[in-house]
Amino acid sequence: KRAFQFSPVQRYLDRIHEELLDLKDGAVADYIPELTRADPSWLGIAMVTVDGHVYQVGDSRQSFTIQSISKAITYGLALEDRGLDQVLSKVGVEPSGEAFNSISLEPGTGRPMNPMINAGAIATTGLIASTPDAPPMQRILDAFGRYTGRPMAIEETVYRSESDTGHRNRAIAHLLLGYGILDRTPEEVVDLYFRQCSILVTARDLAMIGACLANNGVNPVTGVVALQSRYVEKVLSVMSTCGMYDFSGAWIFNVGMPAKSGVGGGITAVLPGQFGLGVFSPRLDAKGNSVRGIEACKRLSKDFSLHLFHVARST
Ligand code: GLU
Repeated sequence: KRAFQFSPVQRYLDRIHEELLDLKDGAVADYIPELTRADPSWLGIAMVTVDGHVYQVGDSRQSFTIQSISKAITYGLALEDRGLDQVLSKVGVEPSGEAFNSISLEPGTGRPMNPMINAGAIATTGLIASTPDAPPMQRILDAFGRYTGRPMAIEETVYRSESDTGHRNRAIAHLLLGYGILDRTPEEVVDLYFRQCSILVTARDLAMIGACLANNGVNPVTGVVALQSRYVEKVLSVMSTCGMYDFSGAWIFNVGMPAKSGVGGGITAVLPGQFGLGVFSPRLDAKGNSVRGIEACKRLSKDFSLHLFHVARST
């Protein structure tokens, strides 16, 4: 469904899009050369409501790599594959307060602190099962496609670069193997992880992903189950506490919506029962979050009093 273009929501998104174009702080990720090719001026905003209305403005159809936002989706898939107890025995749910690539492992057990940092995401990806008819990467792509409602593909050059330079992630995977957190080879697991980070998405896809989570796991446009409803609250919980790198505390304090960001410049935010929001703008702040993405979510939250813990007074 296309929303009526003069709707108040569309007008509001058009307005914040225009205002945010003036915000030029931050810098495009440069840890691999492919990401530096992003146009810093790109800004796409999309919103998908739980009744399937799609609103979008600016570069909402521009594709970019999903990077860390993939961690939320693979966590859900691992929960479906292995069940809550087994996943919890391998990956915790405590915010680490540390950077995304920190080696935050629980002393003694080696269990990564949470699934939104690299160590936890690598462990999570290691839990995704193969089935006779689909190897794990195909299962990951299929799962992402259930959220976005379209077939997904990998950006090969980003994947190759991630793989060529990802020594820290490889080291983390070896540590996880040493602690018995992984039960397949580190090389196989990081390869899957690099590929999942290199999946191409648009701001519209991110909004659709958010809308599935807002809609109890069901894609509001296709009607397909993206994530079993019993795991939706688990995924949203770790997004709330750990989704925005070491800015997660201030994020939930100020914006009050579960969200996940990635260094490609994307942010997915979720207002449960209402909508998913996707913002794409490649300039990042020092913590790796999209500067305009944060600002868009902050404004929306404030202008419509959307903080989850805000209770409207009836008198
Ligand atoms: N591929 C990146 C890494 O693992 C993901 C970074 C991110 O989006 O936080 O280093």
